[in-house]
Amino acid sequence: MKPGTKHPYTKLLTNGSWTARRDKPTNEREIRDWFARDPNCGVAVITGKASGNLIAVDVDYSENFSLPVPPSPQVITPRGFRSFYQVTGSERVRVKKFDWGDLLYGQLAILPPSIHPNGERYTWSDFLTPLQVEIDDLPHAYLPDVGTGSSDTWTRKQVREYSLLASRSGVCETGTITGDALRSLYSTEEIVWKVAPVLGIKERRLGHAFCCVLPGHQEKNPSGSLYRGDNGVIVYHDFHRREGVEFYTLAEVRAAQAYGHTVRLRDRRPELAVWGIRLLVEARVLPLAPVPEVQLPGDAPWSAQMVCEGFRFLLGCKWIHTPGDPSPFSWRFASVWCGVSQKQAGKGIQWLIRNRVLIPAGKHLRTTLFHIAGSADGQCSWSA
Ligand SMILES: [Zn+2]
Repeated sequence: MKPGTKHPYTKLLTNGSWTARRDKPTNEREIRDWFARDPNCGVAVITGKASGNLIAVDVDYSENFSLPVPPSPQVITPRGFRSFYQVTGSERVRVKKFDWGDLLYGQLAILPPSIHPNGERYTWSDFLTPLQVEIDDLPHAYLPDVGTGSSDTWTRKQVREYSLLASRSGVCETGTITGDALRSLYSTEEIVWKVAPVLGIKERRLGHAFCCVLPGHQEKNPSGSLYRGDNGVIVYHDFHRREGVEFYTLAEVRAAQAYGHTVRLRDRRPELAVWGIRLLVEARVLPLAPVPEVQLPGDAPWSAQMVCEGFRFLLGCKWIHTPGDPSPFSWRFASVWCGVSQKQAGKGIQWLIRNRVLIPAGKHLRTTLFHIAGSADGQCSWSA
């Protein structure tokens, strides 16, 4: 492709046209020659027969899109995404425009690392590069002439196991709090079906679509499903990728519902783990660990009561794995965890520190750790 455009690089092509290549694909020597002549060439694949019946689902208006997107190589485009599938060839592919975008067959589909006219680079989606996933068959839902037209037909075939972010997300490698225990719980279907209703998911089968439960998504059409990765962990699949992210751990879904927007906790492993534990506690899969009762005086502000209960709940979650350990409790986190504003969280935390309910117990990196009054190292000022 001509650098930074959506046009074929006619100058480099014999006869100045690419269409002849629908039948006679190019070869490596020719490609090397093109790059020798202009190293800034963009690249594209000719979908259809030339590429072994490759078909691209090109989604520009995700708000209108509710078809399944099983894992297969996927490119992020400035307006949406483009997923590549295969058709068997016996299927009659009718290329047409949809209100969500196009099916490309016999047409050019621009690939990374080409540059879009707006200056952005096309990239592969995380974990959906051609090196990470195989090209899947096009779900029948796209071919109403051939398939049943039902948008969940693909889920009836066995869900292909593939490499997925759960193993990198930290659920299984959080170190202190979780380790294998959490991972094995989130790999167990019966456990996940107890957890799902807490997240507002009523579906009871892996791979079956339901309306997305992520805050702010509110799609009318099914766009979420639960999926098992090849490390066994069951994760949340958001077809619409409204935030440009397709897979979330269930802990991230729980955190998102508390934050009121989606959050990535891959790099915040202790926090990821604690949301994972909280969800299991809320689903009554894990019992809360015992934490000393705290009786606040009657004149304690409301914020202090909320934050105190929240902190006890946090310790109850964490002490399942590390009983008695102090915990960080930032204003930001406390606000989300306890469901109060950051200002209220700050006010509550300050009151609790002043009144020796939260007892500073050293630092981890730059974060203060707190004990609670009545625990091994904490003392309650007014009960003494
Ligand atoms: Zn969604």
